[in-house]
Amino acid sequence: MIIKLAPPKRAGNYKDLADQLKWDKEKILYFESLKNPTEAVLLSRTITLEELCTMLVAIGKYDAELLIKEWVKSQDCKCTACSN
Ligand SMILES: [Zn+2]
Repeated sequence: MIIKLAPPKRAGNYKDLADQLKWDKEKILYFESLKNPTEAVLLSRTITLEELCTMLVAIGKYDAELLIKEWVKSQDCKCTACSN
């Protein structure tokens, strides 16, 4: 298993999320070409909000792109990661 260390200034973003969703490089490049890559990634797999939150924690939820955080918030997630 390869443990990737996040470079200091780089916040988790949709690319990290796409990675968590097991999309390959090619698909991530496709997401990159879209107008709203974050939303495209969020809608690319059918996952529960809890699963999404687990992934956000994995990529550094509190540094994750605002759009991802806002989206989760708008879904009124009740998981432990969101309720504190
Ligand atoms: Zn949550």
